[in-house]
Amino acid sequence: MKLYNTLSKKVEKFSTYEEGIVKMYTCGPTVYHFAHIGNLRTYIFEDILQKSLEYLGYDVKRVMNITDVGHMTSDGDTGEDKMQKGALREHKTVYEIAAFYTEAFMSDIDKLNIKRPTIIEKASDHIDTYIEMIKVLLEKGYAYQAGGNIYFDVSKFPNYYELSGKNQEDLLVGVREDVEEDKSKRNPADFGLWFTLSKFENQVMQWDSPWGRGYPGWHIECSGISYKYLGEYLDIHCGGVDNIFPHHTNEIAQSESFLGHKWCNYWCHGEHLNDSTGKMSKSKGEFLTLSLLESKGYNSLVYRLFCLNSHYRSQLVFSYEAMEATKNAYQKLLGKVASIRNDRSGQKELDKIEKYEQKFKEALENDLNTANAVTILYDVLKSDCSNETKLYLIESFDSVLSLDLLKETKIEKELEDYIEEQIRKRNEAKKEKNYELADKIRNDLLEKGVELKDSREGTTYTFRK
Ligand code: AMP
Ligand code: ZN
Repeated sequence: MKLYNTLSKKVEKFSTYEEGIVKMYTCGPTVYHFAHIGNLRTYIFEDILQKSLEYLGYDVKRVMNITDVGHMTSDGDTGEDKMQKGALREHKTVYEIAAFYTEAFMSDIDKLNIKRPTIIEKASDHIDTYIEMIKVLLEKGYAYQAGGNIYFDVSKFPNYYELSGKNQEDLLVGVREDVEEDKSKRNPADFGLWFTLSKFENQVMQWDSPWGRGYPGWHIECSGISYKYLGEYLDIHCGGVDNIFPHHTNEIAQSESFLGHKWCNYWCHGEHLNDSTGKMSKSKGEFLTLSLLESKGYNSLVYRLFCLNSHYRSQLVFSYEAMEATKNAYQKLLGKVASIRNDRSGQKELDKIEKYEQKFKEALENDLNTANAVTILYDVLKSDCSNETKLYLIESFDSVLSLDLLKETKIEKELEDYIEEQIRKRNEAKKEKNYELADKIRNDLLEKGVELKDSREGTTYTFRK
């Protein structure tokens, strides 16, 4: 397997600390609102990464956190508390907000056929672990107490800018001047580990600590949860590109200072999905959620296929035209698979299975080239393989692609309903002698791979091979 590593800025051969076992940490959602489809693109990428590694024979132990405390709107220590903002918006408690949006997130990832991580833990359930780590960071001199809060001193960690590949000046350019800076910090890049001086009225999530009652900074949760469930060494850590700085940069600084050695070998980041106006947002313009797509007639797996058709390290622009094209492609794909399933002829050809599985693996091993992996699926469908061979390969590939290609699903039912509806419309058109419309309906279906046959008993359909 070869993967692009943000740490080295190179595509590298992948190896693990322990043979055959991958310890993988993926930053989870901040549960103050629904996930937008951009967020979900990152989780699809992580799912493909996990399933590709499993396809190649690795045993993957994946941990994910649920951020329900400490995340500010600025991604640093300033701005508003995201959870508090959600609670105010909906006149609920932060706990109610967290429970509701965690449930919504789980439902989204289930719909996208994203395998649930082995361990999913709430940030607010691990306060003791963060306190233990912060104590060690203070003892070792990496952290300091100022103005009632505890900060990490980035000047004590020489590799602080390694992951982002930037320097302090670069990072300070673009920092908005109107964002109030915390005057207690020694260095503007220092970040909060523990806050005792809540600037938010009625802050509910607060806990006792040796430094006073308060709450943890955002970054310590991932270091803490990863340490607790995956131990001192991590193989892969993932997130979207916006996580590179400051979140992952800060995670590395605090974890490695706490542990006293290198922590994680591979840092993999998914590029953003943008909308036509640029950056995707939960507050401006149309808030693109999976439910919104569903309400417009796009099955969640159409969105999954849309993501798989591009490389995870390329920016992707969302449009309804692209969704429409992907929906058609998906229906056609399902139609082709259905016609093969209805005709299980021939024998399993082991040499061909080996050949195509090898090609599929090579696509995944090439820094997760999912678009090529999908092309290999099409190659199989078009090939001279027996139907038994094709079915075997479709099932094999779908263990990674997870497009429900062989499942009797709601989508198939939707497709059948759609075809039957079109046949009804065509019959009506014929009755009204509107042959132009009748032919158009027949041709549109044919484009989707559905062939209509008229007989005295009525109209039937088959999926073209
Ligand atoms: P959040 O819930 O804000 O913590 O973000 C959840 C995940 O979505 C993180 O891994 C982010 O890096 C990622 N993310 C945020 N915006 C986008 C986007 N537009 N496209 C892809 N991933 C994103
Ligand atoms: Zn994280």
